[in-house]
Amino acid sequence: MASQEQPGRCYDAIVVGAGIQGACAAEQLAKRGKKTLLLDQFPLPHPRGSSHGHSRIIRSAYPEDHYVAMMAEAFRLWTELEAETGTKLYRPTTVLILGRRENPEFQSYGQAMERHGIPREMLSPEALAQRFPGIHLRGGEMAIADHTAGVLYADKALQAVQDQFRRHGGTVRDGEKVLSVIPGAVVTVITSLGEHRAKSLVVTAGAWAGPLLAPLGLHLPLQPLRISVCYWRAKQLDSPGEMPCFLGINLDGNPHHIYGLPAGEYPGLVKICYHHGTPVDPDAPDQLSQVSPPAVPDVRILQAFVRKYLPGLDSEPAVQERCLYTNTPDKDFVIDRHPHFRNIVIGAGFSGHGFKFAPVVGRILCQLCLGEEPSYNLAPFRISRFAGPPKASL
Ligand SMILES: Cc1cc2nc3c(=O)[nH]c(=O)nc-3n(C[C@H](O)[C@H](O)[C@H](O)COP(=O)(O)OP(=O)(O)OC[C@H]3O[C@@H](n4cnc5c(N)ncnc54)[C@H](O)[C@@H]3O)c2cc1C
Repeated sequence: MASQEQPGRCYDAIVVGAGIQGACAAEQLAKRGKKTLLLDQFPLPHPRGSSHGHSRIIRSAYPEDHYVAMMAEAFRLWTELEAETGTKLYRPTTVLILGRRENPEFQSYGQAMERHGIPREMLSPEALAQRFPGIHLRGGEMAIADHTAGVLYADKALQAVQDQFRRHGGTVRDGEKVLSVIPGAVVTVITSLGEHRAKSLVVTAGAWAGPLLAPLGLHLPLQPLRISVCYWRAKQLDSPGEMPCFLGINLDGNPHHIYGLPAGEYPGLVKICYHHGTPVDPDAPDQLSQVSPPAVPDVRILQAFVRKYLPGLDSEPAVQERCLYTNTPDKDFVIDRHPHFRNIVIGAGFSGHGFKFAPVVGRILCQLCLGEEPSYNLAPFRISRFAGPPKASL
């Protein structure tokens, strides 16, 4: 059914994309009394973007100060949302950062945590084996335990934010795809079902952000990646014991991280993923074009990791699913205004680690939308950084 807005009706803001970043931005705007429309191309909830699934790791441990600083507020805002909605969204669980003692990135996790006063504990392979017998480190490898960390219940969190948005008077229209955007003092959004107008626009379109922004003259280096989400069973029913979350930093010479967490979606299984994937078209994630690079051998890399570091698990994944990342070259987010159309605000490129920050990202997007000074230094997230050479990938 075509939907033409009532003549003259103009929202304060339209948010394109009802994943966790768009939902949080919309909720902040509605909470501030702004008449806000949240659009998604698919009927909600859906598993075709990046925000579905049962669980995400939340942690203070990061090698960069800007992320550690944002996490303090993120923990507080998640707790507030739990209280406001009466929904449990989070379970505290230790996160272990695993790496070689001399690895500079591994060291920077500990150093950044120290600078920010985050409680942490260094564990040798022997101390770790006593605490978590399922994880086997070797000589020269260490663990940093982040005891502030845990598992966020992703599906419930997304639902809770969308519900809060509606409670604050926001309008959700799902199954309505934005086809084009006409910039101006009032932005017009043409959709598959009609058109809408607003004083400002927030684009949080995940893996689809690139093609939506290109006609607005903005060619961001955003790469959608298909990620294999693998669930692993213990060889014996009573092993591997209590499983914490973990993040392996370049262990075994792997250029990308490997992370794992107890799987709420499949009780008893452990979810383990390679923090990198194969470039895909988000509308056809199972098809690889002939010009695309060969698929990343992620499952084989995970199997080798499991055999070496988690020998209590069967080295054949019991379940495999997929999810999308949208990576920037430096893995830092894009949180900025459009360089020419200042009432168009962009939240994109969350590079497989954005869920935990979403309430803070939502607040910043709302501030940018309302022309306010953002509460963080946004230098690491600016679009202008892509003008120079990309910084080395972490
Ligand atoms: C396997 C996996 C594990 C992860 N683990 C972690 C973790 O442990 N911790 C962590 O912090 N983060 C993690 N992440 C990353 C985190 O989930 C993402 O950064 C986050 O979900 C990105 O949210 P988003 O709102 O940007 O994108 P999405 O959730 O993809 O939302 C974008 C939305 O925009 C809609 N859309 C796009 N184009 C249009 C259009 N033209 N019109 C209307 N709607 C449109 C889409 O339908 C979609 O719903 C993980 C991600 C994956 C895939």
